[in-house]
Amino acid sequence: MNTEINATTKALEGSRIAILGYGSQGRAHALNLRDSGLNVVIGLREGKDEPSLGQAKADGMHVVEPPEAVRGADLICVLTPDMIQAKLYADVIEPNMKKHAVLMFAHGFNVHYGTIKPRADIDVVLVAPKGPGALVRTEYEIGRGVPCLFGIHQDASGHAREKTLAYAAGIGGARAMLIETDFKEETESDLFGEQAVLCGGASELVRYGFETLVEAGYKPEIAYYEVMHELKLIVDLFYEGGLTKMLTFVSETAQYGDFTRGPRVIDASTKEKMRGVLKEIQDGTFAKEWTAEYAAGMPNYKKFKQADTSHQIEKVGAALRARMPWLQQNAAKPSAKLRVEIGEPVDHDVAQQSAAKTSAK
Ligand code: NAD
Ligand code: MG
Repeated sequence: MNTEINATTKALEGSRIAILGYGSQGRAHALNLRDSGLNVVIGLREGKDEPSLGQAKADGMHVVEPPEAVRGADLICVLTPDMIQAKLYADVIEPNMKKHAVLMFAHGFNVHYGTIKPRADIDVVLVAPKGPGALVRTEYEIGRGVPCLFGIHQDASGHAREKTLAYAAGIGGARAMLIETDFKEETESDLFGEQAVLCGGASELVRYGFETLVEAGYKPEIAYYEVMHELKLIVDLFYEGGLTKMLTFVSETAQYGDFTRGPRVIDASTKEKMRGVLKEIQDGTFAKEWTAEYAAGMPNYKKFKQADTSHQIEKVGAALRARMPWLQQNAAKPSAKLRVEIGEPVDHDVAQQSAAKTSAK
């Protein structure tokens, strides 16, 4: 695989770039592109898109209503929640987008599952940073970048690739690493990661570990430290040096326990279930279910979230973290949430949305 892809902003110099949405990704992209010398306009709805609107104005951005941002734009990057993008495309983007413009996404969901069927005369591309927006910005500010996936779905102009790479360079991704993919691979691997391992898998593992200890009579505070707090230390070692580094930093006893007991907890049947989860992503079952759930006002989502956030481990954890204020010094801010909640209900309840982001897993 060629990961030595170099890029500059040249192909977008003098172009008008419309960023729709100014949340986690939108703000980071807009600030980085502007600092890279590119011409950015933000599309947000007056009266509906607070607190993003106030933030964009405070950052000195040129903010207009979404249809106006789209009109005349050479490149439109859609950085609103995924679940509203199909309607946004139909109502605002398609009727206003000029011929041969570039339509860009940071996640391939809607194009891949066919809820957006882009006009034939435009380029349709993807630049997906592999990190939350806040990191996209802070890495850029210190002269680095966050690795990005990029992909070309439709190349009507014949120049889609160079413009995509120029955008990736503008947000700082080219300073780190650019990996070429397509909408299918990006969408399906991203959904699988968050469902099976990152959010779904990891939180169930922690919850069962906690319950096992507490039900056996161990103190909840000790169980919390053991299975949740310390998980970060282990994950940091994975991040820096993989399994090898983790194994060099834990005791021989821990290593032997890992080799012999780990495979008893997570075994071949888990992998079989992971394959089942992947299959539902690939055949569209998950996308259909989630789209219907969102359209129905998210009754199950709310129930699940309530159950998660009121679990004993959350009460114990909140009390313990209150006694460790230093943990919050570099803590993720709401806008730094990882993309784990595809499609926040922005039109339903903004207050609830911000609260949800603060508790992003
Ligand atoms: P977000 O929820 O943080 O922000 C959404 C923004 O869209 C807000 O500014 C909101 O006011 C605005 N908005 C909502 N409806 C709008 C409308 N009709 N018109 C204009 N603006 C509207 O979203 P996010 O997490 O930055 O996600 C944006 C996209 O980036 C999604 O496609 C997501 O999958 C993708 N992505 C996110 C991350 C991440 O770390 N958050 C990472 C990679 C890719
Ligand atoms: Mg992801």
